[in-house]
Amino acid sequence: MLLHSSLRQKITFAYLVVAVLILAVSVFTFESLKRVEARILMSERISGLFETAMEIRRFERNYFLHAQATDLAENAVYIDRIEAMLSGGHQSFALLEAPGQIEALQEKTARYRQQISLYAATPAGSPLRSSREEQVRVTGKELVSITETLVQTERQLLQSSLTTFRITLVFIVVGLALFMIALGQALSRRISQPLQQMEDNVAAISAGRRDTLPPPSQDREIVSITLAFNQMLKELEVRQKHLLRSEKLASLGTLLSGVAHELNNPLSNIWSSCQILQEELGEADPSHQRVLLAQIDEQCERARHIVSSLRDFARERRFSREHFSLRELVEQTLRFIKSEIPGQVAITLDFADTLYLDADRQRMQQVFLNLIKNALDAISGSGSIDITARPRREDETSPAFPSDCEVKGDTIDISIRDSGAGMSAECLSRIFDPFFTTKDVGHGMGLGLFIVYQIIEEHEGCITASSTQGQGTTFFIRLPRLSEHVGSQDAEAG
Ligand code: ADP
Repeated sequence: MLLHSSLRQKITFAYLVVAVLILAVSVFTFESLKRVEARILMSERISGLFETAMEIRRFERNYFLHAQATDLAENAVYIDRIEAMLSGGHQSFALLEAPGQIEALQEKTARYRQQISLYAATPAGSPLRSSREEQVRVTGKELVSITETLVQTERQLLQSSLTTFRITLVFIVVGLALFMIALGQALSRRISQPLQQMEDNVAAISAGRRDTLPPPSQDREIVSITLAFNQMLKELEVRQKHLLRSEKLASLGTLLSGVAHELNNPLSNIWSSCQILQEELGEADPSHQRVLLAQIDEQCERARHIVSSLRDFARERRFSREHFSLRELVEQTLRFIKSEIPGQVAITLDFADTLYLDADRQRMQQVFLNLIKNALDAISGSGSIDITARPRREDETSPAFPSDCEVKGDTIDISIRDSGAGMSAECLSRIFDPFFTTKDVGHGMGLGLFIVYQIIEEHEGCITASSTQGQGTTFFIRLPRLSEHVGSQDAEAG
């Protein structure tokens, strides 16, 4: 039954087994009842023999007492009747335990007929009469005693076959009930187990731990549900990609308007400096002109920076892993944004100089840049940013690190904590969504963390964040550790 390849077949097969069993039990019960019925008939027939023998004796006694011819005739009628009953021989009493008894009865009846006829023919007063009467009485007694024994034996046999039938019936009913319970359980296990497994797999898919549903059993219905589900997942993925592409296009529009807005400031500064220079050409003092030219130079640099960051966003670079020092990378990143770091913000680096990453250097720089810039935005004024990193062995547990950030093998665990404004749970749940921003137009496009997330995914790592409004935010990054170039874990301040 268990090898069948569809749930429907399994259920049909179980029904068939039950039907066959019920049929077998019905046939068995029918046959047993037939046997009991035959036994009852046999009992009745034997009782008939006994009653006839008793009648023979009754008329025999009457005849001996009153010497009436009618009693002798009645006696003869009953002798005929018992002979007719016995005429079928032992075949008509096939169920009898001792078939020899029938032959014995036949022989005794014949002798009895002979003896009573002889007695009737003996004239009254003859000395032979009393001895012949005695012979008739003895044979008559034997006739009754044989039939009586037969009746008792038959009654016992009937009783015992009824008891056997009752016990067998109880066993059959109990056995059938147990079998039905076991069958029901096996069937429900066969059906509910794959469904339970499917439920677990679907939960794993929604938790992002797997991307396709493996068929939990080879049953046709389950396989086709699994195939349909996987097809749906594939289509959803395609649609999601479409959506992302169109969102990216939409973001380019936002990005362009942001960039236009950003470029407007340096351009108008350059324009007004040029205006002044033009107006004062040949008259103004050279030191003022130098200030104006320096301003133009600075604003050009700002515009160039804006354009180059736009280019960076648009350009697709090939992913290439390098082996580099984390400290060097973070320090270089901090140098890039030095001018944007207010004096009252303290940034500490808490990891060994010898901690190396095997990652795409430029992409990781983008990660640190985006995270540090967000932290600075959240701090607005004075506060601190702490960047820590630790190598971790596969079997080690780090209580400070969120448990939902799972990466196989040895890892490097990085955390970036700021003392900024923090955010609400609702905001936290959306920060990695593309274009989610709480910042004003021109200040944020909501792509920073989305890009960070993509980059960490590309590295087969994971990123997560925790935050409490008013108490700062921490970003946790776990990256796979591919080489052993790690040094002491002494804390170092940067
Ligand atoms: P953007 O910086 O352009 O808004 P991001 O994707 O970098 O886009 O960030 C999305 C949003 O997440 C931000 O608008 C901000 O509300 C929130 N956020 C990110 N980092 C922090 C942080 N360190 N502290 C508080 N909020 C943050």
